[in-house]
Amino acid sequence: MVVMKFGGSCLTNGEQFMNAAGLVKNYPDKNSIVVVSAVCKITDKLLDTGQLALEKKAKEVEKNLNEIHDKHQEIINYIAEEPVEKEKLTKENDNHLEELRQIYKGVSLINELSKRSLDVISSFGERLSVLLFSAALRNLGLNSFPVDARIFVTTDDTFGSAMVDLETSKKKFRKKVLPRINGSIPVITGFIGSTEDGITTTIGRNGTDYTASIVGYSIKCDEILIWKDVDGVMTANPKIYSGAKVVPFISYQEASEISHFGGEIIHPKTMQPAVLADIPIRIKNTFNPSYPGTLISSNCNDNYSSLITCSIDELTLITIEGAGLQAAPNSIVKVLAAVAKVDVNIYMISMASSEYNISFLVKSKDAEKALLSLQQELEVMRLVERSISKIVVDDNVAIIACVGARLKGRIGIAGKIFSTLGKNGINIIAIAQGSSEYNISIVVDSKNTGKAVACIHEELDGEI
Ligand code: ASP
Ligand code: MG
Repeated sequence: MVVMKFGGSCLTNGEQFMNAAGLVKNYPDKNSIVVVSAVCKITDKLLDTGQLALEKKAKEVEKNLNEIHDKHQEIINYIAEEPVEKEKLTKENDNHLEELRQIYKGVSLINELSKRSLDVISSFGERLSVLLFSAALRNLGLNSFPVDARIFVTTDDTFGSAMVDLETSKKKFRKKVLPRINGSIPVITGFIGSTEDGITTTIGRNGTDYTASIVGYSIKCDEILIWKDVDGVMTANPKIYSGAKVVPFISYQEASEISHFGGEIIHPKTMQPAVLADIPIRIKNTFNPSYPGTLISSNCNDNYSSLITCSIDELTLITIEGAGLQAAPNSIVKVLAAVAKVDVNIYMISMASSEYNISFLVKSKDAEKALLSLQQELEVMRLVERSISKIVVDDNVAIIACVGARLKGRIGIAGKIFSTLGKNGINIIAIAQGSSEYNISIVVDSKNTGKAVACIHEELDGEI
């Protein structure tokens, strides 16, 4: 049995829905379970409209509601040939629209847009897309039924990125969904879940990969197949470096390392259920289905692993330095806690063993929030313990990370990377390498991102 996931970027219009449904129909393993994201860009639109509702911009809310409705209706008109099916789907679409309209009205009236409300709002994207995908399969003569994952994906109440209780979700899936399969293909909403009390949650942006993995774990399927709009994991971002190649095999551990470089490849949490049940994950291109793609599994060893050069842009480097830093107890903990307190994610940490300074990176859009919190927290340390002398901020930096099992124990690789950067006139601002030796991360000025990725890639080509 295969669990197939289709992302929003493969579901932009009716034709793409039919194309994706055709891939399910023609797949050699006929016992598929399908997990889908919202139609392309719908989640963003739902969330943005929530903000407009909060700002009481009623006209704009109505305009967006109509756009959301019409986008789905256009797809319904394309995929539903039978008048009865079309009428049923149209009614569902209208009902969802009306429910959403009431929710946005509520947001405007009570002047509140909590994370909890945002989860309900964003759930509509997937709730609608499963109805359409299931109809597309029926249009091709297959039996299919939609499933709202809130009946089995059980989470805590960390709205926006809820923690999944894997074992409870598995039990519920086996009890509520599995018996209904019986020759029919379930089409399951990605991204959404619910608490034990039935409150709607979401498991993180781009979380549909993770849902597919939870479903895979629940039945211990043969493969989790992530359909995307690219040929697989690449040795670099092809938009940055045109010489990037597809990686045919990659280990779970390497995939986890690169998944943190933007949700574009695979959602970071996807690996966890797959590793537990030892299920391989394959990434394939909906627009090039005969291409084998990338296989992520536990069987991958460094003989055929590739080096991947990833990058993250639009980062800010924050450095805290002061002679007293090493003397102050828990100073590092306090620094990091101040950033965590305002929900800002730290991308990399670098600290010299002198403990004279600590540097870390955050998304530039979060920098102000992080700095404010740091200044408040450190005020106490500075005054009372006199441990910190200054905070230095460096905007517009990027992380370039070389990832791969091949880095482990290879003497001289870091040297090659650094010397090629030097030869190309690129200054290294900070570096980090964890003891897993799977990832060497380098901070450079973001104007050098493309050049750095290209020269590292070319320097290491023989090893790639
Ligand atoms: N629709 C959700 C999002 O855009 C989940 C997903 O795409 O996987 O984040
Ligand atoms: Mg998405």
